Amino acid sequence: MLSSLKRNPDNTGVGQTTPVRYILSWVWWPLLFTICMGVTAFGFSIKDPAYMPYLCFNGAYAFLIISLLFLERKFPHEAKWTEPDGQTWANIAHTLTSKGTTQVLLAVNTYIGANMLSGGEGGLLGMHLWPSHWPMWGQVVFAVVASEFMLYWAHRTAHEIMPIWRFHAVHHSVGKLWIVNTGRFHFIDSVYSIVLGILPLIALGASMEVVMWLGAVTAFIGMLTHCNVEMRFGPISWIFNTPELHRWHHSKRLREGNMNYGENVMCWDFVFGTYFNEDRRPPKNIGITTHMPDTFKEQIVWPFLSKRRQNEIASAYPSTFSANKKNHQVEAIESAE
Ligand SMILES: [Zn+2]
Ligand SMILES: [Zn+2]
Repeated sequence: MLSSLKRNPDNTGVGQTTPVRYILSWVWWPLLFTICMGVTAFGFSIKDPAYMPYLCFNGAYAFLIISLLFLERKFPHEAKWTEPDGQTWANIAHTLTSKGTTQVLLAVNTYIGANMLSGGEGGLLGMHLWPSHWPMWGQVVFAVVASEFMLYWAHRTAHEIMPIWRFHAVHHSVGKLWIVNTGRFHFIDSVYSIVLGILPLIALGASMEVVMWLGAVTAFIGMLTHCNVEMRFGPISWIFNTPELHRWHHSKRLREGNMNYGENVMCWDFVFGTYFNEDRRPPKNIGITTHMPDTFKEQIVWPFLSKRRQNEIASAYPSTFSANKKNHQVEAIESAE
């Protein structure tokens, strides 16, 4: 493990690393994450007016997006990923539909489902299972680790069980990583992970403040994880899901891509043996080895089509962005290993 402190400097960045860039590459992730968490904590400390937590969280989120868009231009990890891939609007449309669906689901659950299930503040059947007497930071850490267990398995089954992978493949079909594809999830995929990851916490009696903190941590880490910025991590990658780890997860090679399932923290990847972080540059040629259509509307319908129909469409309409031609190359590499 200690070897991750002296990793090859060529693993990230576009190759002209100067001493200043090298130092900054260690600073960006902890600096941005700390600022975002600090601003969110400040919002929660001011309960009056009641919109302050929302205002501060959204302010921190906007600050993170603007900072990362700037850093992606100035300090990219992959130069090739700064070129347009024709998927920006599809990414934004998936982000909006996924976020909209999960917001509705959370609201319905909070105001109707959880209360009916729990009979009030005691959580599921009023059993008082949630450690609500703990300090808020302890409850948030507990919520992150506990929900991660469910998120881990939601994510892992989305890779290993074909009918669920059909939906998750939309997220993996992009040929580059940058902050705009952070929210690129088929809305069914989002519903699947939120039902498994967050609703159990509400049913156990976690307060809305805890759930909002979990949402904030997930939003910040998710945005950082997909960014195309020259960053280095060391021990941070032992705890949190970082871009370094997630780039392996987007690999076309199954032995790299079916790894690093953690959404926020990596503890369950260590427990279940799926942690992956070799000391070499993660693949530049990422994506999936099967067809995915180009437009948002087609991508929404795609997972519902039969295999036969998908094959008919794929052979008649080669995608411009999912690099099908390179698949044979990847398969050849895989079989050579
Ligand atoms: Zn995945
Ligand atoms: Zn991803």
